[in-house]
Amino acid sequence: MAWDFSTDPEFQEKLDWIDEFVREEVEPLDLAFSSHLVYDRTHPIHQEVIPKLQQEVKNRDLWACHLGPDLGGKGYGQLKLALMNEILGRSQFAPMVFGCQAPDSGNAEILAHYGTEEQKAKYLQPLLDGKIVSCYSMTEPQAGSDPQQFECRVRRDGDDYVIDGYKWFSSNFRYAAFAIVMAVSDPDVPVYQGTSMMLVPTDTPGIEIIRNVGLAGERPGEGSHAYVHYNGVRVPAENLLGGEGQAFAIAQTRLGGGRIHHAMRTVGVCQRAFDMMCERALSRVTQGEVLAKKQMVQEKIADAYIQLQQFRLMVLHAAWTLDQGDKKRGRTEIAMVKVLTPQVLIDIGYKALHIHGSLGTSNEMPLMGLWTMAPVMGIADGPTEVHKVTVARQVLKDYKPSEGLFPSMHLPPRQEAARKKFADLIEHEVAQH
Ligand SMILES: Cc1cc2nc3c(=O)[nH]c(=O)nc-3n(C[C@H](O)[C@H](O)[C@H](O)COP(=O)(O)OP(=O)(O)OC[C@H]3O[C@@H](n4cnc5c(N)ncnc54)[C@H](O)[C@@H]3O)c2cc1C
Repeated sequence: MAWDFSTDPEFQEKLDWIDEFVREEVEPLDLAFSSHLVYDRTHPIHQEVIPKLQQEVKNRDLWACHLGPDLGGKGYGQLKLALMNEILGRSQFAPMVFGCQAPDSGNAEILAHYGTEEQKAKYLQPLLDGKIVSCYSMTEPQAGSDPQQFECRVRRDGDDYVIDGYKWFSSNFRYAAFAIVMAVSDPDVPVYQGTSMMLVPTDTPGIEIIRNVGLAGERPGEGSHAYVHYNGVRVPAENLLGGEGQAFAIAQTRLGGGRIHHAMRTVGVCQRAFDMMCERALSRVTQGEVLAKKQMVQEKIADAYIQLQQFRLMVLHAAWTLDQGDKKRGRTEIAMVKVLTPQVLIDIGYKALHIHGSLGTSNEMPLMGLWTMAPVMGIADGPTEVHKVTVARQVLKDYKPSEGLFPSMHLPPRQEAARKKFADLIEHEVAQH
């Protein structure tokens, strides 16, 4: 009976190494530099510090592990990747150091699956070598979670394709060498069959960055979510990724694993918040005793611990389900995990922050910043409501309507059938009394 919650000792050794390496070598980057520098290749850390760290990761065979061995990765599968991401989630710089930062990891996956040999050589290889970063350009200013409202168009013109339209929140566009742009190629069919993916170098004439939108708290100039105008952007026909109309089918490849990695990074973040909460509860004295002795504080610790373990197991189960090749169940579980991700961050982050009192709200602790990531988690990659709809739709596929007027669990007919089944015994019982 294979139902095992343990980690292989050899892989645990790797996790232990990652844990120490991230703590000692990578987390100091988060403390010394602003997180927007993660992608800014012009900054000296990308010449002097990060390549050395990346080389150490490569020497350990831990580089770009989301990809198969033919592409320079380990092809670990989702469960191992999830355990790795639990550690990497503690640091903004760690995914870059390990060659698995979003959106590059997802973009590399789809290039590996659907790219031609030329596309792989030109876009995938430098991405895998850590020489460039990329962007995924899908959301539009008037429509994010409803692709049926997408207006950005791409049309064939001789040997080229021409893209016209606006995209919103195209993360890292300003640092990217190329963007994968989703655009409607056939408006006469449903958008899910009429949208294509184009590989667009970011220095192509006609690209205009209207502005780089920042997240709340980022200083002016630091924003990296571009509002882009593709104004008659012309790319050669060979820049079509996959076939015409295949964009949404391809996009599914991209989002599956990435969502689990994000969730597991959130597990790592919440574990850190929980650790801080416990340390503070055992250290801070009020009314003659440490906070940890107060029952309402104990309740917070218990609730947070239970919620974190539940979430962790669910994410790992989703990863395991994908590794089993069960795509249908995997889809439901990924959506479940996406729904829970912001919620655990809100609940556990807030409790940890609250236990720290004024210090928790200050800029001398990371708790406020950590907690404010929750709304982002509830929107990026689609809002919570959309993932709940997916869960409900998928789950309902396993059910059918009741046949008669009353539900199949209606007691009277079931009781009558049961009484018939045991008629002899019931008669015997009646005779006895
Ligand atoms: C940090 C960050 C990075 C991002 N990076 C990228 C990127 O690199 N590339 C890219 O293309 N996009 C990116 N996005 C955009 C992201 O994919 C969209 O924000 C997301 O799809 C939601 O679209 P929207 O913002 O237009 O919200 P809307 O679609 O307007 O939704 C707003 C709200 O409406 C409600 N709602 C929506 N649909 C339903 C429904 N079916 N039922 C009930 N309520 C509903 C929800 O409350 C939802 O939060 C990023 C977003 C964030 C926050």
